[in-house]
Amino acid sequence: MRDAPAPQDLLHWYDRHARDLPWRVGPAARASGVRPDPYAVWLSEIMLQQTTVAAVKSYFERFLSLWPTVGDLAADEDGQVMGEWAGLGYYARARNLLKCARVVTAEHGGHFPNDRADLLKLPGIGPYTAAAISAIAFDLPEVVVDGNVERVMARVFDIHTPLPAAKPQLTERARELTPAQRPGDYAQAVMDLGATICTPKTPACGLCPWRAPCRAFANGTQAELPKKTPKVPKPTRLGIAYVAQRDDGAVLLERRPDKGLLGGMLGWPGSEWSDAPEPAPPMEADWQEVGAEARHTFTHFHLRLRVLVAEVGMAAEPTRGDFFSAAAFRPSDLPTVMRKVFDLARAEALNTPKDASHR
Ligand code: SF4
Repeated sequence: MRDAPAPQDLLHWYDRHARDLPWRVGPAARASGVRPDPYAVWLSEIMLQQTTVAAVKSYFERFLSLWPTVGDLAADEDGQVMGEWAGLGYYARARNLLKCARVVTAEHGGHFPNDRADLLKLPGIGPYTAAAISAIAFDLPEVVVDGNVERVMARVFDIHTPLPAAKPQLTERARELTPAQRPGDYAQAVMDLGATICTPKTPACGLCPWRAPCRAFANGTQAELPKKTPKVPKPTRLGIAYVAQRDDGAVLLERRPDKGLLGGMLGWPGSEWSDAPEPAPPMEADWQEVGAEARHTFTHFHLRLRVLVAEVGMAAEPTRGDFFSAAAFRPSDLPTVMRKVFDLARAEALNTPKDASHR
């Protein structure tokens, strides 16, 4: 029987190889008494849900520069925050981010609670995020299991049960390993190991601090772990987006309802998204189809949007949405799929408003 993996070995490795991340207090700083700002930890964890570290970095830095404290964020307008979030995707996160900031400010005096159960009561904070904030911000011995940790546990213990059925087993293993000393650094160390050494395709076992106890390495099974239950192919939905530009360069946009996909975000008026969408122009106009579709993939389906454009006069009275002047319209405020529509419309038909370039 091989020895169990030792958290201390991983912590020693982390002390030398921790990733330098803008929201992280590294092991040396932490040892010298620096403590993470729970607001920064929370913000990074919400942004990192479903999004990669590389994509999040610049958003995180911009949010912190615009809103240095949770109170600053809570006090700003929804549209401003949603606009800055545009491009990160999964927009329900942004709405919950604001709700949470306002609850923390109003009910907790601007301080995140340092208790997992209290964190769980906040909007947008589920079991994983509560555990991550407890461990990373408050150094509590919570079990933090993300995709990286699942992969490392499956390999170290050579667990062949496919995900997601394996989750309880992998979590239990992670729980057994979580140390009482430096649990915050340990949680980040396992994530770093998964992100930099025990990577999905070609793990660098030669550099791994847990190579000696790793059962998958001993059995040569690391490349096939973790096993996953095959996914059902995603369906494709169709839709029509209408891009109207007025003679003065203003464009017609509508804010989507708070609930549902892209809730609260600005977008082009359009049809429903279905197998056979009905035309739903926001006004009568000489709608022209551009020669390409905007394609986008959401969590549960692929979307193909036909893009229709029209130039309309100053007297145009749409039944939906509002005209945004060229100065007020920022393409970067749109969610990615709506920006794809704009790029197609602009490339093929629209007069580009002077001030509406990408930031
Ligand atoms: S030895 Fe290889 S498979 Fe095992 S934990 Fe380390 S990197 Fe992953």
